Amino acid sequence: MDTEMLDREIKNIKDLSPVEIEEFVSDNNMKPFRARQISKWIYQKRVACFEEMSDLSKDFRDLLEFSFSIESSIALAQEQVSKDGTKKYLFKLSDGNQIETVLIPEKSRNTLCISSQVGCALGCTFCLTGTVGKIRNLKPSEILDQYLLVNQYNEDSVTNIVFMGMGEPLDNIDNLVRVIKILTDPNYIGLSPKRITVSTSGLVPKIKELGEKVSINLAVSLNAPRDELRDEIMPINKRYPISDLIDASVKFPVPNRKYLMFEYVLLKDVNDSDSDAHTLGRLLKGIKCKINVIPFNEAQPLPYKSPSWERILKFQEILISYKINVRIRKSRGNDILGACGQLAATYPSKKTKKDKHLNT
Ligand code: SAH
Ligand code: SF4
Repeated sequence: MDTEMLDREIKNIKDLSPVEIEEFVSDNNMKPFRARQISKWIYQKRVACFEEMSDLSKDFRDLLEFSFSIESSIALAQEQVSKDGTKKYLFKLSDGNQIETVLIPEKSRNTLCISSQVGCALGCTFCLTGTVGKIRNLKPSEILDQYLLVNQYNEDSVTNIVFMGMGEPLDNIDNLVRVIKILTDPNYIGLSPKRITVSTSGLVPKIKELGEKVSINLAVSLNAPRDELRDEIMPINKRYPISDLIDASVKFPVPNRKYLMFEYVLLKDVNDSDSDAHTLGRLLKGIKCKINVIPFNEAQPLPYKSPSWERILKFQEILISYKINVRIRKSRGNDILGACGQLAATYPSKKTKKDKHLNT
């Protein structure tokens, strides 16, 4: 064997899109249905090696074995269980980086909160992931393995997926789209697109691009109703201001009978005044949407506090007066730093210019 062969980087087969698996099959003069057999072995029967794909010829299995790896691309490093049943998993990647995935059990569903990047470039001032900076995008296999492993640890009970873990999913849109196609294709994982939600801080051109490629639920992290305040707490707003963001969001093709969602993290004395509630009400009045109000989850060294219950309820009451469908989102898993904005794996915060790696 020459050194070139020894040095070649073997791709995980879960990094391939459905179209790429079909191409591999046809490039090797196999019938198209072989692609479906392969995808079912990987994602439905979840075999650990190509050898187990018993309806493929020995030669073809050998070729797959030579061309790809199939093992999990992430390894469990730690599992923590919150008093409320929320579970947080710390996974180690093959290059030593770490990510977190959170399972939130509820009465009628089990929602998995998935990471899309190691860290995040966008530097929102209220978010622990943002304080880490962006380290790198996750590969499709690293995103999919979060679902495959946690679902397996929990007796296949995951019903919903939200891209609200570490990272900005739309700053990794190519891999995100690949993953969504695999999650929703009936020959692959086959989840309903209605059970998948992508949350974004507002990369406006990417919202449009995502809508052209897939139809899933969209959650937009608004967090401030005025540009001057949003500029301050979400630096991405300087590039894509609120009016452009709302415009792109309302055009997004959410699935039938589903609502566009806005998220609003309430920060004490920053964005929780009556006046901000009225401005938000006027901004969203008449738009077919729901708002999730999320009281700030405290995490060191973030410089904010959560408002009092009285303030939170008053904020909600004002929004309701504008006939807006608003829900206060109970925080889950705070005691294990598993709630929104508390995910930073074990990375220290760093104070650098956060959006320098962003490719938009
Ligand atoms: N990057 C994406 C998805 C990950 S953040 C985004 O920003 O939407 C997921 C959600 O957590 C966002 O709505 C964000 O506004 C919220 N969030 C971030 N930090 C938080 C904190 N400390 N407390 C409560 N929610 C927070
Ligand atoms: Fe990144 Fe979202 Fe956190 Fe902002 S809120 S820093 S976009 S993960």
